[in-house]
Amino acid sequence: MSNLNEYKGIWVLFELFEGEAKKVSYELLSPANDIKEHTGEDVVAVILGSGSKEIAKEALKMGADKALVVDHKDFDRYDSDLYTDTVEAMAKKYEPSSMLIPATNNGRDMAPRLAVRLQTGLTADCTSIAYDPEVEAVAWTRPAFGGNLMAQIFCSEHRPQLGTVRPGVFKTMEAQDKDGEIVEFPYQASEDVHRIKFIEYVEEAGGQDVDLEGAEFIISGGFGLGKKENFEMIEELANALDGTVGTSRAAVDAGWISHIHQVGQTGKTVQPKIYVAIGISGAIQHLAGISSSDTVIAINKDPEAPIFKVADYGIVGDLFEVVPLLTEKIKEIKSK
Ligand code: FAD
Repeated sequence: MSNLNEYKGIWVLFELFEGEAKKVSYELLSPANDIKEHTGEDVVAVILGSGSKEIAKEALKMGADKALVVDHKDFDRYDSDLYTDTVEAMAKKYEPSSMLIPATNNGRDMAPRLAVRLQTGLTADCTSIAYDPEVEAVAWTRPAFGGNLMAQIFCSEHRPQLGTVRPGVFKTMEAQDKDGEIVEFPYQASEDVHRIKFIEYVEEAGGQDVDLEGAEFIISGGFGLGKKENFEMIEELANALDGTVGTSRAAVDAGWISHIHQVGQTGKTVQPKIYVAIGISGAIQHLAGISSSDTVIAINKDPEAPIFKVADYGIVGDLFEVVPLLTEKIKEIKSK
C-alpha cells in the first residue's frame, strides 16, 4: 500500500441506466469539486457501459476533469461481481484518494464489497460531504441514532475514502464548455465472472411514474389524512399542479400508500421547487429529506407543528377544508 498522500484523485462512480447516466452521477460532481478546492486533485468520472465515452464528454462539461471509462456492453446491466472486480482493478491501478458512489440500490450493493476488497472504510448514505483540512480527510456526514444526531465520519488511516450519497442531496453544477482527458480502462470479457444471469427487468409496481427525486412540484400527504381513501384528495391536488405525490413514513407504515412515495431519511431525498406538506408534523426524519426544496408550504391544523419552523408559507387549518378549496381554485385558474 502506498503512503496515504500518494493516493490522488476524487472519483465519482457514474450509474448508467438504459444508456444514460442517472442524475445523481452528475450531482456527485458537485461535492467532488468542493473537495478539489482543498486538495487540488482531479475530479474523475468513472463510467462503465456502452456509450460511456459519449457520457464522459457530458461529465467533463458538468464538473469532471477527467473520465475513466470501460465502453463495453457487459456493463449495461449491473452485475455485483463484474462491477466490483472492475472498479477494484481500476482503484488498485490508479489509487484514488476518495470515491463518491450513488446510494442507489446498485451503489449500495457495490460500495461495501469494494471497501472490503480495498481494505478501507465506507460511510454509507451521506447527507453532506466536506473536506477537513485539519484531519486532511473527507468529512462524511450521515444521520445516526435514528436520525436524532448527525455523525461526521473520517477515514483517516486508509485510502481510498469511500462514501455513498443519496440522489437529490446535491445540486448539479452549471454546465461549462470544456473538455478533458478520457482514459479507456482495458477490460477483457470473461465468462467465469458472470455468476449472475440477467433474465428480465421488472419495474416495481407504480415505480415508473414516481420520480420524486426529479420532481419540481411535490404534494405530500401524511398521517393527518386519517385513512387511505383520503389520499385521493392529495392525488387530485397533485394532478391539478402537474406534481408528484409524496408522503411520510407514518402513512406508509399505516399501509395507505407505497414506500416508493416516502420522503425522508429512510425514503427519498427531494429538491423540488415547491414542496407542499399536508397533515405532516415535520419530524426530523421527514425534514432530512426536504431540506433542499426551494419553497416549503405546510398545511396543518396544529400551529405548533414543527413543520411550520421550516415552512416558507404555512396555512393553519383543517386539511379537509383547505385542500379541496385549493384544488378547486387551481383548476379554475388553469381553465382560464
Ligand atoms: P404525524 O407525526 O402523526 O403528524 C400528523 C400531522 O397531521 C400532525 O401534525 C397533525 O397536527 C396533522 N393533522 C391531523 N389532522 C389534521 C387535519 N384534519 N388537518 C390538518 N392537519 C392535520 N418519517 C418520514 O416521513 N420519512 C422518513 O424517511 C422517516 N424515517 C424514519 C427513520 C427512523 C429511523 C425513524 C425512527 C423514524 C422515521 N420516520 C420517518 C418517522 C418520523 O419520525 C415520524 O413518525 C413521521 O414522519 C410522522 O409522519 P406524519 O408527520 O405523517 O405523522
